[in-house]
Amino acid sequence: RAKANGRNRFHFYNPQLDREQLERVALENALFHALQHGEFELHYQPQVDIRTGRIDGAEALIRWNRPGHSLVSPGCFIPLAEECGLIGDIGNWVLEEACAQMQRWQREGIRLRVSVNLSALQLEDPGFCDRVAQILERHTLEPDQLELELTESLLMKHVDATVDLLRQLDRMGVHLSIDDFGTGYSSLSYLKRFPLDKLKIDQSFVREISIDQDDAVICRTIISMAENLNLKVTAEGVEQTEQLALLAEFGCHQYQGFLFSRPVPAPELAQLYRQSQTETEPAWEI
Ligand code: C2E
Ligand code: MG
Ligand code: MG
Ligand code: MG
Repeated sequence: RAKANGRNRFHFYNPQLDREQLERVALENALFHALQHGEFELHYQPQVDIRTGRIDGAEALIRWNRPGHSLVSPGCFIPLAEECGLIGDIGNWVLEEACAQMQRWQREGIRLRVSVNLSALQLEDPGFCDRVAQILERHTLEPDQLELELTESLLMKHVDATVDLLRQLDRMGVHLSIDDFGTGYSSLSYLKRFPLDKLKIDQSFVREISIDQDDAVICRTIISMAENLNLKVTAEGVEQTEQLALLAEFGCHQYQGFLFSRPVPAPELAQLYRQSQTETEPAWEI
């Protein structure tokens, strides 16, 4: 018995497949089905300007509402989608949906920059840049409303081809940031080669920033290096006021984390945005 999975792939029943492999195949088939049946949704986590306490961006994070199942985390199904070749279609859906949402917000008077996570394989699509341009145009958005999050390993993969592509995106006006900064294997020289706008300090350095001196030094160093390179810095995974106070002291520009809000559905993000615009004081005090 063969079951279609993706465009050119078939999985044949083989009694030697072990349980794990069978579960994988089932999950891959479910992913394919999910894309066709609209089971994906984007949630948005506010990105907050540390100085003003106001929301000035949002990160789009994919969610899979799998009928009859509890939430499957993207940390689990994104790597699988990368392996089985579905990430291209899923990634396109994410870009499309994030831009459609920005346009809806814009009509409600909410102008937010939205960041979208990219997988390495998406950059291997030679038409990627044109696709981004078309999506932006179709939704009447300015390119600088879109931010693309890249990882260090993605940047290090095909350096020359990637530099060209990112330069094209940069010339168009799209913002580029490095996600999970500090965790990848990389050389710092790429910070000069790529036209970046922002570094996102990985949450593993933020978690113990107020109790571990080394983490505090790492955060402080990333922030001052970014400052000198003319890059913005966002701290990820901020859960406590003490963490935020230190990041503010170090001169960090922006943060996101459960302290302000978890990733939420689009209507809730709009509500949080309006609230944060009317509040006069930052949501935190040192
Ligand atoms: P990421 O891009 O680094 O996203 C940050 C993750 O940290 C999110 O997990 C978010 O919910 C979580 N987070 C935010 N604030 C806090 C906090 O204060 N404490 C803690 N402990 N966690 C926090 P999520 O949504 O499960 O996503 C996991 C990863 O999956 C993302 O990491 C990203 O690498 C990937 N991902 C998510 N959506 C997409 C997508 O649309 N495309 C691609 N290619 N990858 C995606
Ligand atoms: Mg991210
Ligand atoms: Mg730029
Ligand atoms: Mg991250």
